[in-house]
Amino acid sequence: MSTGDTKGTKRLLIRTWGCQMNVYDSERMAEVLAPLGFSATESPEDADMVILNTCHIREKAAEKLYSELGRLRVVKDARAESGHATVLAVAGCVAQAEGAEIARRAPHVDLVLGPQTIHRLPEMVARASRAGGLVLDTDFPEESKFDHLPAHRPAQGVTAFLTVQEGCDKFCAFCVVPYTRGAEASRPAAAVLAEARGLVAQGTREITLLGQNVNAYHGEGAGTLAALLYQLAEIPGIARLRYMTSHPRDMDDALIAAHGDLPQLMPMLHLPVQSGADGVLAAMNRGHTADDFRRIVDRLRAARPDLAFSSDFIVGHPGESDADHAATLALVREIGFASAYTFKYSPRPGTPAARAPYQVPEAVKDARLRELQALMVEQQLAFNNSRIGAQFEVLITGPGRHPGQIAGRSPWLQAVHAEGPETLTGQVVRVEAIAASANSLHCVLKEPQQHPSEQHAA
Ligand code: SAM
Ligand code: SF4
Repeated sequence: MSTGDTKGTKRLLIRTWGCQMNVYDSERMAEVLAPLGFSATESPEDADMVILNTCHIREKAAEKLYSELGRLRVVKDARAESGHATVLAVAGCVAQAEGAEIARRAPHVDLVLGPQTIHRLPEMVARASRAGGLVLDTDFPEESKFDHLPAHRPAQGVTAFLTVQEGCDKFCAFCVVPYTRGAEASRPAAAVLAEARGLVAQGTREITLLGQNVNAYHGEGAGTLAALLYQLAEIPGIARLRYMTSHPRDMDDALIAAHGDLPQLMPMLHLPVQSGADGVLAAMNRGHTADDFRRIVDRLRAARPDLAFSSDFIVGHPGESDADHAATLALVREIGFASAYTFKYSPRPGTPAARAPYQVPEAVKDARLRELQALMVEQQLAFNNSRIGAQFEVLITGPGRHPGQIAGRSPWLQAVHAEGPETLTGQVVRVEAIAASANSLHCVLKEPQQHPSEQHAA
C-alpha cells in the first residue's frame, strides 16, 4: 500500500491534549519523525500518521480520546479503501495508564507509547509497518529520553517551551501524574543550556521552562532551579524567562530572591494552591497549609512587588464542605489571583482520593465550579483593567488578527494587540495599554526601548 502523496512526502497530524509538557513532547515527536519524511498536516484525511497525545488528569480527557479514535477509524478505513495506509498512534499519559484498555477498545490503533519513550517512535513506526499488529511501549526506560532526542531543535518561534524536569514524587491524593510520568528526574544544566542557546540562535526570545514540579529541579551542573535560571539569564539574546508548574513546597529562598534579581524573569508566577482550606489541603496530601501559601506569596511580593499570580484549584475534592469552599473563595480574593485553571475533582483510578468515603455530589461540584469561575473572570478582568494607562514592555510575537495589527505578550502573560509593523516581531517594545477585556489588552506603541536585558546583544 502507498503511504504518501505523489512526491513521497508523508503527512503527520498530531493532536495534543493537556499540559504544556504534552505540547513540548508533541513538538519533539514531530522532530524525531521528520527524518523519516513526515511533515505536518492539519487534516486527518491527508495524514499517513496520526498521533493523539493524551492527558489522563481528568476522566473527560480519556473519554475524548475514545470518541476521537472512533472518528479516526472511519477515516482510516476510507483511506485504506483508496490504497493509503494510516499509522494511528496514542501517546501521552492515557497511553501510559491504559495501554491494554486502548488495545481492547480500539483495535485499529497501531502504536501505544508513553511519555518516556517518544524517542523510540521511528523504530516503532518501522515495526508497525513491517509486522502489523499493535506495537506497545510504555516502559519507564533506565536511560532518559532526552539523551536520545536530537540535541538541535528546529526554530520554534519567538516563544518556546523547554522541559527541564519530569515526573513527581509528591503523590497528592487526587493525582495520577506520579503513576503516569514516573519519578522526578531533572535534565543536566549543560543540556538545558545547549537547547536554550539553540533556540535563541533561531530567534526565540522568551523561554518557559517546564516540569511537573519545575521548582523541584535538581539537575547536575546547577542543583536548583534558581541556579539554572541565573545560568540561562547569561545567554545573550534571552529576553524573558518563565517557569511552570511550581509547587509551593519547593519555593526556596534562592528562587524567591531570583525573582528580585533577574530582570529576565517575568513577573507572573503560576503557583497552584488547589484549595484555601487546611483540612482539604491535608486530605490532598499537599504538604502545605493556606497560611504557608500566604507567607510564600508575601515573600515573593517583597522580592518583586509587581509580581502577579495564577493558580490551579480543584473544587469538590472528597471531604470538601461548604465552609471549605468558602475558604477557597476567600483566599482567591485575598491573594488577588490574576488568573487560574479551575477544575472539578475527577476521581482517578488507583489514587487514594478516589477511594475516600466522602465524595462530593456532582451537582455540588458543578455549583462550586461555577461560583469559582465567576469570581476568577471578575478578577482577571479587574487585573487586566488595572493595566490601562500603564506603560510596560511587550514581546512582539507576530502579526495580529487584523491587517496592520501586531500581537504580543505582556510581562504578565496577557495577550496584547497593537497597531504596528510586523517587522517588530521578536522585539521587546514599550507600549501603553488603552483598553482591556477579560482575555487581552489593546495597546499603543511608545518609543521602542533598548533595554539592555531585553534586547539582543548588538
Ligand atoms: N504539579 C503541579 C502542582 O502540584 O501544582 C500540577 C500538575 S497537574 C498536571 C495540573 C493540575 O491538574 C493540578 O494542579 C490540579 O489542579 C489538576 N488536577 C490534577 N488531578 C486532578 C483530578 N483528579 N481532578 C481534577 N483536577 C486535577
Ligand atoms: Fe500531581 Fe501533586 Fe505531583 Fe502536582 S505535586 S503533579 S498535583 S502529585
